[in-house]
Amino acid sequence: MPLVETEALVLRTYNLAEADKIVVCLSREAGLVRGVAKGCRKLKNRFGAALEPFTLINLTYYQKENQELVSVRQTEILRSNFNLLSDPITLSGLAHIGDLVVEFSPPYQANDNLFRMVKACLEATGLSPSDLQSILRYFEVWLLRLEGFLPDLSRCAGCHRLFGEKEAVFVGPGSTLRCQSCGNDEQDQRLSGQVHYQLRATLKLGPGPFAEGLRNASSRTHRDFANLTQRWIMRVLERQPRKRPSYSVGAFEGARNASA
Ligand SMILES: [Zn+2]
Repeated sequence: MPLVETEALVLRTYNLAEADKIVVCLSREAGLVRGVAKGCRKLKNRFGAALEPFTLINLTYYQKENQELVSVRQTEILRSNFNLLSDPITLSGLAHIGDLVVEFSPPYQANDNLFRMVKACLEATGLSPSDLQSILRYFEVWLLRLEGFLPDLSRCAGCHRLFGEKEAVFVGPGSTLRCQSCGNDEQDQRLSGQVHYQLRATLKLGPGPFAEGLRNASSRTHRDFANLTQRWIMRVLERQPRKRPSYSVGAFEGARNASA
């Protein structure tokens, strides 16, 4: 049983038996990892505060063949985010990130881009907690993109014409973007030039500068943006059966609850 050592973000934990916990992490080397941390609820334990949600750790574990749950051997805190956990609004925003990563990521498939993106979003939230909502939008767009669900933002899906920088567009069936002449069905959602522009800005900027650019945006822009990403995410989650772990440890609260 080879030991694996990897940088990882703790997403959530569940109590298991009397003294143990199940830890769900997004790791750099192995993607989504679920493991058992034996004895970590005892007063004196080798994990200390490393398994608090949203802590960046150096994780060492081993995995037996054909077992989904790995055994957590060692943890070392690289960066704690305790300061963010005391604010309930920030905490629920971060839980939303954790929920969606769990929903979208297949277990044990490394995705370096996803790891770096989530890590960058946590860093940006730490630097500027008041930008949380914009950072969540950034995270959602990138999650959709990295998992292959983001439609082309630069071209009309009907006539393939390149959109202007701040052109208002329509979101048609199948989530694709269309120009005024190709879209504009009654059921299409209209995206203002401003929302379309900000949507595309996610692909050019890091989460911090992106959020900064949204600080002066209208509440309408924020609301339309949030509605759009929520609609896209719901569409994906409705199409694919939710990936449930093979053990039973109580309810898995999903993105639906977190974003309600
Ligand atoms: Zn068109």
